[in-house]
Amino acid sequence: MIATDTAVSTVGFYINGAWEQPAGRAQGTVTNPATGAVLASVPYANDADVDRAVRTAHDAFLKWRDVPVVDRVQVLYRYKALLDKHAADVAAILTRENGKTIDDSKAEVRRMIQMVEVACGMPSLMMGDALNDVAPGIDCKSIRQPIGVCVGITPFNFPAMVPMWMHPFAIACGNSFILKPSEKVPLTPTRAIELLHDAGLPAGVLNLLHGGKESVDALLRHPLVKAVSFVGSTPVAKYIYTTAAAQGKRVQALGGAKNHLIVMADADMEKTVEAIIGSAFGAAGERCLAGSVLVPVGDAAGPLLDLLVKRTKGLTVGDGAKTGVEMGPLVTSDHRQRVDGYIDKGIAEGATPLVNGRDCKAGADGFGFFLGPTIFDHVTPGMTIAREEIFGPVLSVIRVKTLDDAIELVNRSPYGNATAIFTSSGKSAREYSSRCEVGMVGVNVGVAAPMAFFPFTGWKNSFFGDLHAHGKDAVGFYTEQKVIMSRWF
Ligand code: NAD
Repeated sequence: MIATDTAVSTVGFYINGAWEQPAGRAQGTVTNPATGAVLASVPYANDADVDRAVRTAHDAFLKWRDVPVVDRVQVLYRYKALLDKHAADVAAILTRENGKTIDDSKAEVRRMIQMVEVACGMPSLMMGDALNDVAPGIDCKSIRQPIGVCVGITPFNFPAMVPMWMHPFAIACGNSFILKPSEKVPLTPTRAIELLHDAGLPAGVLNLLHGGKESVDALLRHPLVKAVSFVGSTPVAKYIYTTAAAQGKRVQALGGAKNHLIVMADADMEKTVEAIIGSAFGAAGERCLAGSVLVPVGDAAGPLLDLLVKRTKGLTVGDGAKTGVEMGPLVTSDHRQRVDGYIDKGIAEGATPLVNGRDCKAGADGFGFFLGPTIFDHVTPGMTIAREEIFGPVLSVIRVKTLDDAIELVNRSPYGNATAIFTSSGKSAREYSSRCEVGMVGVNVGVAAPMAFFPFTGWKNSFFGDLHAHGKDAVGFYTEQKVIMSRWF
């Protein structure tokens, strides 16, 4: 059901340092998932908007690249201070348009700020190497130079943090940037860019557009765009990677996930259950690092599932803005329908529902896109709910006999984003971490999210490209290397 809201506004484009309210474009709507209220309308950039933004960014790049890096990062220091000051405000906007709990939003805003903090270290991070006398009288050095106009296309689930995996690093390296955030949640990135404007970023260095496939295609086609950073679902990530790379652009495309949580019988079951709850049902399962398949090994299943089911049934589901709520709604009505469809598939294919999200009372008044947490037991690897990314609060339990069986199961998955093992055995943890074909591994940690100074290392269908997001990889991605050999007579 859609409610009315008193404060519906139009989200603007930000081009050449000015906010624009374009008229006559195709439009989408932004809703509050907890109430269904329409919050804003969002215009979709057409080819001419994209061309103007890219040309503006290119002109800005020609000046910005010559600003010394120590001066470029001064803008980021001021940006960080403003983000700190307005963190509560940004978190409230995030909960309002995405639905995650206010505590999850505050945690995301902290992560967002950490990205800026790391990018502030660019004078050290960008340094090259030098070696004198590589031959008689000849010195050699390598330097890093920015590449030009970079583009970022981001998903709905982390509208504060994921754009920050990209633009602070890109602009600190001396590039200009065009951000095209998810059209479902444009309000959070808009607030962040307002703060970047207030921090004194020169006009044109960062531009903000909105839209869907058509706007993205125009960005991918533009000859002045040199690099594309994408985060979203696997089919779109593959499309972005192949389309942009075919035109000679540099691409990093982070895709979807199906993450397995392995539990050994020697694990601390109470702490493990808390970690699983956070991993599977935190942010309503709308996380690329969410645990989606629980794999109890040997005798672990009995004690684990008893505790897990009890704790899951006691979870408080509701409006994420309210204190005490542990799980919010799904992002849109359509997405709620899609996740609900997986509950049908699980039942039809013979899995046993231990907890059914449809029993949840939140949203019973007809408002909001709520679906409670669901746990399916006796899932087999061939079932749809075991194979496909659901991106909602549905946890599938696949019981296995040995750690070898668990490793085989995980390595058969086409995805390789994240996984975790829960155990008190260093040997099991070491063996699993080393043999699993997954890029981010938690040992007694349910959400193995790398901090800003490490890269975000998805494998297989969870990542297309060579250099990952943030950490030192971001510096490699947003710069070209040049080697200079000098001889002076
Ligand atoms: P999505 O793929 O639908 O959209 C992502 C972005 O791509 C949006 O900006 C959207 O406007 C654009 N887009 C959508 N369809 C397009 C098309 N056909 N052509 C060109 N552009 C298109 O993803 P979403 O639903 O916003 O986000 C959820 C997905 O993102 C999940 O699959 C999740 O696992 C993934 N994700 C991955 C990571 C990671 O680090 N690997 C992080 C967060 C989210």
